[in-house]
This record gives sequence, structure tokens and C-alpha cells, in this order.
Amino acid sequence: MDDLFIEEEIKELREKIAYHNDLYYKKTAPEISDREFDQLLNRLQYLEEKYPQYKTKLSPTEKVGSDIQYQAKIIQHKVPMYSLENAYTIDEIEDFYEKLKKIDDSIFYFVTELKLDGLSINLYYENGTLQYATTRGDGFEGEDVTENVKTISSLPHRIDYLEPIEIRGEIFLPRAEFERINSEREENGEKLFANPRNAAAGTIKLKNSEIVRSRNLDYRVYTVGLFGKREINTQYKLLQFFDNLKFKTEISDRELGFVGYVGGKLAIISQCQMWEYQKNNLEYDIDGLVIKVNEFKLQNKIGFTSKSPKWAIAYKFKTEEKETELLGVDFQVGRTGAITPVARLNPILISGSTVSNATLHNEDEIKRLDLKIGDYVTIIKSGEIIPKIISVNYKIRPKTAKKIKFPSHCPVCNSELNKEPDGVITYCNNIACPAQIQRRIEHYASRDALDIDGLGEAVIKQLLNNNMIHKIDDIYHLDFGEFATLPKQGNKSADNLKQAIERSKNQKFHKIIFGFGIRYVGERTSKILAKNFKNIDELIQAKVDDYLEIEEIGEKIAQSLVDFFHQPDKLQMIENLRKSNVIMESKNQASSNVLKDAKFLVTGTLENYKRAEIKELILEFGGEFLSTVGKNLDYLVVGENPGSKLDQARKIKTIKIINETEFLELIGK
Ligand code: AMP
Ligand code: ZN
Repeated sequence: MDDLFIEEEIKELREKIAYHNDLYYKKTAPEISDREFDQLLNRLQYLEEKYPQYKTKLSPTEKVGSDIQYQAKIIQHKVPMYSLENAYTIDEIEDFYEKLKKIDDSIFYFVTELKLDGLSINLYYENGTLQYATTRGDGFEGEDVTENVKTISSLPHRIDYLEPIEIRGEIFLPRAEFERINSEREENGEKLFANPRNAAAGTIKLKNSEIVRSRNLDYRVYTVGLFGKREINTQYKLLQFFDNLKFKTEISDRELGFVGYVGGKLAIISQCQMWEYQKNNLEYDIDGLVIKVNEFKLQNKIGFTSKSPKWAIAYKFKTEEKETELLGVDFQVGRTGAITPVARLNPILISGSTVSNATLHNEDEIKRLDLKIGDYVTIIKSGEIIPKIISVNYKIRPKTAKKIKFPSHCPVCNSELNKEPDGVITYCNNIACPAQIQRRIEHYASRDALDIDGLGEAVIKQLLNNNMIHKIDDIYHLDFGEFATLPKQGNKSADNLKQAIERSKNQKFHKIIFGFGIRYVGERTSKILAKNFKNIDELIQAKVDDYLEIEEIGEKIAQSLVDFFHQPDKLQMIENLRKSNVIMESKNQASSNVLKDAKFLVTGTLENYKRAEIKELILEFGGEFLSTVGKNLDYLVVGENPGSKLDQARKIKTIKIINETEFLELIGK
């Protein structure tokens, strides 16, 4: 294409996007669907990446990547959303209790709830249907995040209660999900989220609801704004009412006693102490306990300050902070060759476990902290998991404190280190670097990749040290007789390992791709690749442009893939894997692509499949699932009691309208 046309197209796209943005956010009267809008944006992003000479700070794509956020519509709360008074000590809890007793001596019952560490959400239902979901905002009005909230599958869109009601709760990310997202972001070279709360808050405001869906947010509800049902007259009954409406509340976990229904001061205090001690056993973060007067009549009598109810208080757990000495800095070599500085600390007990290391991420972080060896540093466990150095006590810096020198050569193989031109990360680019080999094999065998049980860090080290393997594909030629004679091993462990390695030869294609450890290619990208390429040969032959045709893949990943599949040692590895009968293709392949690129939509109730199941089937067979009827739709599958989609589809001649049986015939079932 001629450059002049490109420039022209980019300019037009920017104008169009600005125009539709304005309609959508300011005038709330969109002329095109979200999908069409995304297509415009994707096209612009693609062109800007391909022709960086036309990039500008003013472009609507400036917030590139998966984190595009938009200024959302603002909606007023019908009843303001309050915050909570905090108590940091048990003494303050006692004060709170005594003060209430003075207002009304009959106050006795309280409900204690976990204080979930996420962001608060307001759900407005009318006629039993979710109308919108908003963030807390300034307490009086919040941002419209309806589409994203609707991706949380356990949150009911329809409820068996017809009066207008504002239901309120917390949206959060379970810890495991937080870690999964962060490791994926690391793979993709994206900025990491500091903790689950930030990740949840960032996620809920994303423009692309599909990314939100993939992040598996969770929620609990615990209070109301606008509400007219008189029979519900206590906090505990309110939670039961939510439970009956099929919302998730902490009393759904009643057996575990997540909600305390308690009487008197001592019972409240013991709840606080118990949860402070137990909080790390939960699958999500809590930062305290919320204590609420149970009866609404008493709540009303006690009243509110301008910001918060006087009948409730949040007992905040202490975030443990400890000071310890920085003994040294180790430089670790990752599987892609990235060098990570790791602080070696004088071991200390913090939030329940002993910490002796903390990652320093990269050279910039060391500079930012102005850190020296011998310094006393303050450690916290961020998100209660990952130890982090938050500050340096310069006042007691010893005279002997030593400057930290970032190495110029790999600490393991001694080859020269390089920084990526744009990046902050330093790499060892020697493909034969023993540290990288160890890490690459560890990665190949890991759970999310080939999933080879029994082939962990220690065993791999043992094999490397005994010269039994030198590279990934060597594991398929292991001498198990010899393995059985190694220290700590035996016939049984040799046999188990043999079976696990044998099983890995039939592993899913996307897991194999992930196992290769290609820079920027995480689990999600691997899945996308496995869906778009039948087998390893198609991947090897693909050019940058072939990759770029896939919507989710940008220039950086495409380039990295092409680089990977052009390295002779990588091609040799693939050849060797092939000879060892590792099957590198999409499994059940005969059927898997029969719906290739066909676009589907379903209306009405099907006999044999739920909506989510049929969607899964369509994707499995290579099709796509759309959200609205449009010219690009190929098939509408119609079940019992079809909706308006059927009428819309009838107006478009090119759409094939089929029933469930016809659909099953398409996929040969
Ligand atoms: P803070 O942000 O520290 O003032 O605490 C108030 C916030 O705690 C509320 O806005 C809610 O988002 C959150 N929260 C979490 N769990 C609860 C709960 N069980 N009851 C009330 N608020 C809660
Ligand atoms: Zn090296």
C-alpha cells in the first residue's frame, strides 16, 4: 500500500473513533455497536504498530495494550454509598461498643463480616432485571461498569424481586487468579499489578469485556441502598434475603462461619482476633472485619455521619512491616535470559512465614530505592504473598554500605548482557547458557506446559549435573535404569517419571507451544495460536503478517514468534521432539476446524445444550460466537421460544437460520 493512503486511513480512523467516542460517552447515543467500534480501534492499532512513523500521543490508541480504559458514563446513586470508620486496635473496638451502649443500652446483637479487599459495587435492579452496575465513585455518583460486571457468571442478571432495589457489595479477584494474571502479564512484557485489589479495580474499567471475562472476577453482596421491603429488618435477614435471590454472600459459606452473628463485646473481639489469625487461609484477600449493629431499627436510631454509618466499624488488620538487613543481591537468569536481581535478606518472620529473599525486578528498581548492600530495609508482603522491599532506612545506613553493581556479564555463562532497546530488562542472549537451559526445561515440564509429574527443579538439576540431559528433547531419551541408581531415586520413581514423560507426548497443542517458552508468548497467546494453526509446521512457516492477521496478536509477539522459529537450535529441538513422537498438532483435529471462521449466534432454549455449552462447542470446532445480529453473522441457531434475534436475522438474507439438529449435523454429531 502506498504510504499516502496509509496516512489518510489513519487520520480517518482517528476522526471516526473520536466521533463515536463522543456519541457513546458524552451523548450516550451510540450509532455503531461496541463490536464495530472495537474493529475500528483494532485497525488503527494495527496500522500504528505497523507504521510507527504516524504514531502520536494524541491518538485514541495511546493507551495501547489490553488495558485500554475509557471515560465511562456517570450515574447517580439513588441512595449515597457510605464508607466505613476504621478501628486499628481492639481498644478502639471497645470504645465503639461502649459509645453505642450509651445511645441505647438494649443494643446487643451484631453481625461481623469479612472486609473483602476489592472495590465496592452498586447493582440496580428494577422489575427483577439488572439495569446497571456502577462503581462507588465519590459516594454520590459512580461510573457505569455494567457490561464488565455482567461477565461475572455467578452474578444474577434477573432476580425474583420486582421492586426497585440497589444491591451493594464488593468485587474482587481471588489470589490464585491474581497470580495467574500477573504471570501472564510478565510473559507478555506488561506491567504487573501490585496486588489483587488494584488488579480488580483496573479490570472493572477495561473497555474490552472479553478480557474482563477471562479474568474471573468474583463478588459478594452485603448491603442495600434503595430498598423498600419492610419485613427484612436486620442485617442477618438481609444476607439471607440475598442468599435466597441467588446472590453470593458470605453466609453462603455459613458452615465455615464467615459471618458472625454475635452478642456482646467479648464475642466481637474474639471474632476480630480469630480472623486476624486466620486470614491467610482464605482464597482471597481481606483487610479487616466489618462489625455492624444487626437491627435496622437500632441502626436508624444511631444514624450516620456525613461519610459513614455510626452503627458500623471496620476493624483493620495490621499489615506486618519489618526491618531487616540486606545481605547481598543475587542475579538470577530466567529461561528467556532475563536477569532478575534478588535481594538476599537476613531472614525474618513476617505474616506467618520466614522471608529471606525479595525480588528487586530490574536495575531501575534498585536505583529507585537507592539501595546499598548492608542497608536496613522495610519488608511487607504485598497482597499478603510476595515479599517486597518498600523502603530503605537511610538514617542508619552503615559507613561500610556497598554500592550494588549490576553485572555486565552473565553470572552463570559469562557472556555479555544486553538491554532491550526500549526496555528496562537486561538479557543474557547466549542460548547455550546453562542457567537458561535449566529454567527452560523446568518450564517445559511445568504444570501449565507439558505437565510432567516428577520432573521438577531438583530432578532436572540432578539430570543436568550427571550429564544425562543437555536440552529439552533429551528427556525423551532418558536412561531410566541409570536414573533409578541416582541418589534419592529408585525403581518406583524411575517408573513414574517414565510414564509421565510418555504421557506428555500427547499433550494438548497449546500446552506444547507454551512449553517452548517463547518470549512474550504466555498461556493465553498459546491457546490463540493453537486455535489458528493446525500443527507445528504451519507455525514454523508462518510469516509476521500471518500472525498479525490474528486479532489478538500484535507486532511484538509476531516478531518474537518468527525469531523463535528461525533459530536453528529451536528447529533442531522440534525435529528431535517429532522423532520422539511428541505430537505437535491440535488434537481431535479431524473435526476441530469444520466451522472455521463461521460466525454463530443462538436464540431461545436448546434441548440438549445450555448457552455456555453450545458456545464452547462452536469455539471448539473453530467457529466464532457473536453477541449481536449483523451482516457478518453466518448462522443463527434457533431453539424453543426464540427472541427478537430471530426477527432481526430474517431480515438479512445471508444469515442461515438452523435448528439444533441441523447444527449438530454441521459438526458431525
Ligand atoms: P474503606 O475503603 O477502608 O473506607 O472501607 C469501606 C469499604 O469497605 C466499603 O466501601 C466497601 O467497599 C468495603 N467493604 C468490604 N467488605 C465490606 C462489608 N462486609 N461491609 C461493608 N463494606 C465492606
Ligand atoms: Zn548466561
